[in-house]
Amino acid sequence: MFDKILIANRGEIACRVIRTARRLGVRTTAVYSEADADSPHVRAANEAYPIGPAPAADSYLRGDLIIEVARQVGAQAIHPGYGFLSENADFAQACRDIGLVFIGPPAPAIRAMGSKTEAKQLMEQAGVPVVPGYHQDNLDLKVITTKARIIGYPVLIKASAGGGGRGMRVVASELDLAESIASARREAQAAFGDDHILLEKFIARPRHIEVQIFADGHGHVVHMFERDCSIQRRHQKIIEEAPAPGLTEDLRQVMGATAVAAAHAVGYVGAGTVEFILDRDDNYYFIEMNTRLQVEHPVTEAITGRDLVEWQLRIAAGEPLPRDQEQLTMEGHAIEARIYAEDPSRDFLPSSGRLDHLRFPTGRPELRVETGVGLGDTVSPHYDPMIAKLVVWGVDRDAAVRGLRRALAETQIAGPATNRAFLAAVAGHPSFAAADCDTGFIDRHFDDLVPAPRPAPELVVALAALHLLESRKRQAANTAQPGDPYSPWSLTGGWRLSDNSGETVTVIDGNTEITVPARGDGDGYLLTLPDGETRVSARAGAEPGDLAADLGGIRVAATVIGVEGGLMVWLHGTGYHLRVPDPEAHSTVTDSAGGHLTAPMPGRIVQVLVEDGAEVTRGAALIVLEAMKMEHTIAAPDAGTVVKVNYAVDEWVEEGVTLLDFTPRA
Ligand code: ADP
Ligand code: ADP
Ligand code: MG
Repeated sequence: MFDKILIANRGEIACRVIRTARRLGVRTTAVYSEADADSPHVRAANEAYPIGPAPAADSYLRGDLIIEVARQVGAQAIHPGYGFLSENADFAQACRDIGLVFIGPPAPAIRAMGSKTEAKQLMEQAGVPVVPGYHQDNLDLKVITTKARIIGYPVLIKASAGGGGRGMRVVASELDLAESIASARREAQAAFGDDHILLEKFIARPRHIEVQIFADGHGHVVHMFERDCSIQRRHQKIIEEAPAPGLTEDLRQVMGATAVAAAHAVGYVGAGTVEFILDRDDNYYFIEMNTRLQVEHPVTEAITGRDLVEWQLRIAAGEPLPRDQEQLTMEGHAIEARIYAEDPSRDFLPSSGRLDHLRFPTGRPELRVETGVGLGDTVSPHYDPMIAKLVVWGVDRDAAVRGLRRALAETQIAGPATNRAFLAAVAGHPSFAAADCDTGFIDRHFDDLVPAPRPAPELVVALAALHLLESRKRQAANTAQPGDPYSPWSLTGGWRLSDNSGETVTVIDGNTEITVPARGDGDGYLLTLPDGETRVSARAGAEPGDLAADLGGIRVAATVIGVEGGLMVWLHGTGYHLRVPDPEAHSTVTDSAGGHLTAPMPGRIVQVLVEDGAEVTRGAALIVLEAMKMEHTIAAPDAGTVVKVNYAVDEWVEEGVTLLDFTPRA
């Protein structure tokens, strides 16, 4: 085993690798960008080295600098995590060239599997079923058009070098083919520096089933069963589970054996995932192989009881597979939910910002929380916006689903928009409980999963009013308290400013202003709510913001936290954001008729599709912005003229800056 390894990654996966290394007595070196100087992964490692500015291209993707740090500190191996350099064959080779162990497969295997085109050719030769399609190097439009006709519409165009669901286009008919190919190739070139594409039959309502494999350097390969990752948005997973519900034991064995054969076919070593899609008739087809640890690996760990990072380290150190196939068994059911800083109601647009409040459930052996951020940290627009993964285990799927619902209900996040409530809606959906899951699940149930905003219940308004009244009282008393200085509930003394004269508090719920008249009443207040006068009082709980409240006799446990511009109330697993009127506040609504188009989020300009003075039609793509590993096209809101383009390709822009000056046609 190694004495010291370097982790060339950040966030939760860096923390997770460090944990296992530490358990095995392996010292760890972290690297960090300027944006991550105070990040948990920096503190978790035995030592940490700065490698450059925030943009990944200047830090976490600087293989040369990272190898230099590894050499300096005397690390024997580099664990790349996922993303960043994990599937970069040149980096893997560069490590080996200077005598460092790359904790991953040999460079040729990475290279072969990094091209979906080459991977599918190889798999076909190895007798692995692949999705019917066209995956040759000749990309002549005539050839492709003929092939698409043979495959039959709808067809799916994929970037050969693609990943993370990017560069994919579903084409419904030949009319759209040429245009879709051109745009897919443009996107692939911008995102992956390679415009090769391939065509596949678009399978209707498939399931994404993948098999975890492990190979050692002595010619042995095993599989660790499958994961079902069908709950996806934008072709990207957000909930994964193991085992796949309803998969017959026969099919499990056959798919496992096929994945093992695939690994043999490319001389694989290390951890890998063979991804398949399964159609409605139980036909399975290879789609790609990921030559790294997968984000969702913990569900496999939960049902097999194995530590996959430990296996990676042992194999990289030259040891044989710790167990053979017969010794690997699975027990129970595990589900992972990925909590992202993103807004499901805005087409899952990533968000960023400071985590003003962050609480995960703790103290349950069947629940594992993987995160790489802490309270007060910032979700940076430079990186993947994943905040945490919740991984629950249960004796069966029903128990795991219930565990997941509870874990999501007990998770509280304030600051950037998150998909927590969305995940809770998926976990709570009857079709999810019935395991009626395929890759169309989110589209099909979208209205159930992102319901129209509803007014906050009266109990929530009462809790908010109580919080504001206590804050006011505390300010008046002007007592500096140790502990959380912002919580009015840190006033634990018996003394309260008694004030029986009437006053009012106002909160804004959505667009509705609610004014609540209040009077002090002993240790509580009498509030005049729409349903009448109610006596409310509360005691502080153990954690900051926690309250045990009595609202007209109804006893509830809730959490209330002041955030910028208002407050957050969590009650019964739902979070409510209420604003408070700010006398100083002026309207910050952006002037959309004012003739400029602004950046919806901070990011890098990847494409400028128009020039100054260009006449464009409504909906025309003008600028493509890349943020948090996704592309956002800024389109013309109307037909009109682009007066001026204010930024060039590769420039970094902050949220809200004016990208283009635009005059709509009169
Ligand atoms: P797939 O590539 O098939 O979607 P995964 O779902 O395992 O497989 O991973 C999705 C991608 O998300 C990975 O390729 C990885 O680049 C990225 N990713 C997710 N979370 C992180 C993180 N914390 N750090 C770096 N990369 C991440
Ligand atoms: P990536 O490298 O971006 O992960 P994949 O080839 O793994 O790309 O596909 C991502 C997702 O797209 C799959 O999990 C599946 O949901 C969907 N998908 C891929 N191929 C097909 C297909 N031929 N028909 C229908 N859906 C597909
Ligand atoms: Mg994939």
